[in-house]
Amino acid sequence: AALYKIDGWGAPYFCVNSSGNISVRPYGPETLPHQEIDLLKIVKKVSDPKSSGGLGLQLPLIVRLPDVLKNRLESLQSAFECAIQSQGYESHYQGVYPVKCNQDRFVVEDIVKFGSPFRFGLEAGSKPELLLAMSCLCRGNPESLLVCNGFKDGEYISLALVARKLALNTVIVLEQEEELDLVIELSKKLCIRPVIGVRAKLRTKHSGHFGSTSGEKGKFGLTTTQILKVVRKLEQVGMLDCLQLLHFHIGSQIPSTALLADGVGEAAQIYCELIRLGAHMQVIDIGGGLGIDYDGSKSTDSDISIGYTLQEYAAAVVQAVRYVCDRKSTKHPVICSESGRAIVSHHSVLIFEAVSTSAYEVPALSPLSLQYLVEGLPDDARADYNSLSAAAIRGEHDTCLLYTDQLKQRCVEQFKQGSVGIEQLAAVDALCDLVSKAIGAADPVRTYHVNLSVFTSIPDLWGIGQLFPIVPIHRLDERPSIRGILSDLTCDSDGKVDKFIGGETSLPLHELQGGGSGGGKYYLGMFLGGAYEEALGGVHNLFGGPTVVRVSQSDGPHSFAVTRAVPGPSCGDVLRAMQHEPELMFDTLKHRAEEFIHQHHEDDDGVLSAAALAGALARSFNNMPYLVSASSCC
Ligand code: PLP
Repeated sequence: AALYKIDGWGAPYFCVNSSGNISVRPYGPETLPHQEIDLLKIVKKVSDPKSSGGLGLQLPLIVRLPDVLKNRLESLQSAFECAIQSQGYESHYQGVYPVKCNQDRFVVEDIVKFGSPFRFGLEAGSKPELLLAMSCLCRGNPESLLVCNGFKDGEYISLALVARKLALNTVIVLEQEEELDLVIELSKKLCIRPVIGVRAKLRTKHSGHFGSTSGEKGKFGLTTTQILKVVRKLEQVGMLDCLQLLHFHIGSQIPSTALLADGVGEAAQIYCELIRLGAHMQVIDIGGGLGIDYDGSKSTDSDISIGYTLQEYAAAVVQAVRYVCDRKSTKHPVICSESGRAIVSHHSVLIFEAVSTSAYEVPALSPLSLQYLVEGLPDDARADYNSLSAAAIRGEHDTCLLYTDQLKQRCVEQFKQGSVGIEQLAAVDALCDLVSKAIGAADPVRTYHVNLSVFTSIPDLWGIGQLFPIVPIHRLDERPSIRGILSDLTCDSDGKVDKFIGGETSLPLHELQGGGSGGGKYYLGMFLGGAYEEALGGVHNLFGGPTVVRVSQSDGPHSFAVTRAVPGPSCGDVLRAMQHEPELMFDTLKHRAEEFIHQHHEDDDGVLSAAALAGALARSFNNMPYLVSASSCC
C-alpha cells in the first residue's frame, strides 16, 4: 500500500485487505470489515464465464459504486451543515451536481435520489444536459435547484422556461450579456416569469491548469460593467425581482482555501451590491472547484493535489460569505456549489488487464553462433567486437558500453547496405543486450501491454497529461520485482502511460505468471476517474467504452451484489457510431462468403462452410473491440 501511496489518495474508500487485494470501503470511515468489497472478486464474478453466477463479460471494466457516491454526497452536505452550524450562519447549503462530469443516466439518477432529502439539484451546460436534468429532477425534490449554465440560444432559454412551468426550480444563469434580451423576450412570449442568475467574471484568478477560464480575461461570465447593464435593463422592464442568483466559477481543482476564500469574498461583495441595487438575491452559487487529491500529497502547488479537506473547504466558504454579508448587514444567502469532480471521482474504478510484457529475454548464444557471427562480420565490425571483448575481460564497463554502441551502429549501417545478414544482425543485438545486462546497463523498465484504450478511458491523461493513481488490484502482499510502463491497444504512440503519481516515470509491477490470485491474470485499476473521463473519451481506433457494472454493498456471502451489468459497445455499435451499417456490412460479407465457397466447390459440411464463416463474422460484429482473454474466448 505504501509503495502505491494508497493511504494518501485512497482513504477512506480504498485499502489493501489481508489477501493483498484492493478493497472498497463503501461507507468510507463507517465501513465495517465484513462490508468491504474485494475488487478482484468483482472482476472474477463479472468476467469469468465458468465461476458460479459468473457473467462472462469482457474487460475493460468500469465498476460503479453507488454506496461511495452516496457517501460523497452526504459528506459534502454534512461538511457544509457543520460549518453552517458552528459559525451561526443563518441560511442553508443546497448543492447541484454539474452533469457534464459524468452524464451516465444511472449516475445522475442516483445523485438525484440520494440528494433528494437535502434538496440536492443539477446543473446543465447544454440543451441535451438540460433535457436529462429536467427529466431526472421530475423524480426529485421540487425545491432542488436546476441551474442552467453555458452559452444559450432561444431554444435553450425556451426549454429552461418550460422547465420552470413544469415546477422545476430552474434558474437561467446569464453567461453572456446578449442572453438577457432573449430571456426577456421569450419569458414575455411564453408568459413564464423566469428566475435569473448572472455569472460574474471575478478578478480573483486561479493560476493552475484548470483556472484558465478565471480572471478578467476568462472565457465566461459578465464583467462588472455588463452586470450593471443587466441590472438596469431588468429594472427598465420591471423584472429586477427575477434576478436572484449570483454565480461564479474560478476553475476546477482550486488548490487552497486561501484562493477559495479570496474568490468567494469577492463574489459575496458583488452579491451584496446587487441587493443594494434592488435585485431580490437569494442564492450565491460558488461553482465547482472542490478538488481531489489524486496523488495524496496534500500539496497546494500542483494541479493534481489540493491542500484542504472537505470540512476545511466548506468552512472557508461559509466564513467568507458570512464575513462580507455581516459587514454589509445583508441577509445570509443560500449557498450553492456545483461540485462535480469531488462528488463522482471516487465512485468508479476502471479495471483492465495487462496481457503481456516486452519481456527481456536474452537468446542463448552458443559459442558456435558467436564464432559464426564474428567470422562473418566485416573487418571494422570485427575490430569493434575484439575491442569489446578485451574491455569486458578487463572489467571496464564504460568502454564496454562504448563498443557495444559502436558495434551495433556499424552493423545496422552495414545491414542497410546489404553487407550484414539478418541472422548476424539479430546475433549482434543479442550480444549487445547480453553485455548490457551483464554490466547492469540494460534498461530495467519493461512495457506492459494493457487491454485498454487510453484515448477512450483516460482521455485527460493523453490530452492534458493529468495523472491518476494506477495500481495492481491484487498481489499487493507480494513485492513487485519489475518497473514498467503501460502501452495500450491503439496503434498510436500517445496510447501509453509513462508518468505516474509521485513524479514516477514507471510503476512497480509484478511478473506476469500462470498462477496466482488472479488465476494467472494481472489486473490493474485506475482510480478516481469517475469525473470527466467517461464524458470526454473518444473512439480512437474504434475502441468503444468499457463494460460497466454497478456494484452495491450487500450482506450476502460476497459482501456485494452486481445490480446492473452493461457490456461495452460491440464492434457493430462502434461502427454504427461512425455511420457504417453493420447489418448491411454483415450481409455483404456473408454473401461474399457464400459466393466464395460456391466457386471453390467446398461442400457445406467442410471446415470452411459458408455458415461457419458467417458465424465467425457475426461474432466479430457482436463482440467488443478489445482483446478476448484466453480463458473467456469462445
Ligand atoms: N460549474 C462550472 C460552471 C464549471 O465550468 C465546472 C467545471 O469546470 C464545474 C461546475 C465543475 O467543476 P468541478 O468538477 O471542479 O467541481
